Amino acid sequence: MRILIVDDVPDNIRVLSRMLVDDGHDISAATNGRQALKLAQTCDPDLILLDVMMPDMDGYQVCAALKADPLLRAIPVIFITALADVEDETRGLGLGAVDYITKPFKEPIVRVRVKTHLELKRQRDILERLSHIDGLTGIPNRRAFDARLDEEWRRSIRSGDPLGAAMIDVDLFKQYNDAYGHLSGDDCLRTVAEALAAALKRGGDFVARYGGEEFVCLFSGLDDEALAAVVEKIRASVEALRIPHGDSSVAPWVTVSVGAALRQPTPETPPAGLIEAADLQLFEAKRQGRNRVCLASAPA
Ligand code: GH3
Ligand code: MG
Ligand code: MG
Repeated sequence: MRILIVDDVPDNIRVLSRMLVDDGHDISAATNGRQALKLAQTCDPDLILLDVMMPDMDGYQVCAALKADPLLRAIPVIFITALADVEDETRGLGLGAVDYITKPFKEPIVRVRVKTHLELKRQRDILERLSHIDGLTGIPNRRAFDARLDEEWRRSIRSGDPLGAAMIDVDLFKQYNDAYGHLSGDDCLRTVAEALAAALKRGGDFVARYGGEEFVCLFSGLDDEALAAVVEKIRASVEALRIPHGDSSVAPWVTVSVGAALRQPTPETPPAGLIEAADLQLFEAKRQGRNRVCLASAPA
């Protein structure tokens, strides 16, 4: 795991680095607050060892800035400082640091405290990952999708590229469950999810389970024509699985209906409008007989 050491005295960095490299960690180092904040963004540290007394920006200010940034606030911070008063330690811990070690520090103590906080960070990372994965299909879940939609919406505002979305709903899936049982239904959803993920291998594509037998995709950097092609590919890839569905009036196998929409994101429009537009097209695809794709182009 990677540790960022922040101290204005290079000798302190050297001592800490040597010790932590010995324990198998990767080290990045900064000698002032600004550099520390920049490195926190770019080197993706699992833990920050932070000195307090530094010129310009002190460690408390660095810690406060880290905790105010949604992308950085989860990185645990341990203060390592010569300031040993109760008020100093209280202030440091009050700013959200996980630990406070006073100088001159004792090597074995730093080692075990670092080890403990890295282990906690590792466990939090695992939980964070799991909380974004759908338990049944193993693809991203609704929570992951909501976060991704916000992110892609903001990215598209900056880039000026349109954002596409597709809602995918398994046709007559209630009948499938009734005919083959819920466990087979679960298997079917897993197979469909796998096919969707396999069909969407481009860097700008994202697929998640929206809920039940519905999936949702996001596409960045596609125009109307390219979006129409990729959603048709999605529909065809599920049909090509030829999962038997004897009770379907649409086809002898499992099929999906797909509704897709394209929008030019602006700061004034919420991303929910894109999903609503795709949902409307899904409704239309169902109405027209299922196992088909309906697409709304971006409003002029
Ligand atoms: P339509 O073509 O109009 O979409 O018909 P449908 O039967 O697919 O739609 P409906 O919304 O009536 O039924 C959805 C079914 O999906 C009902 C529900 O039991 C089933 N379902 C939702 N989640 C799961 C799941 O995790 N596993 C299984 N086996 N079935 C699920
Ligand atoms: Mg449905
Ligand atoms: Mg359905």
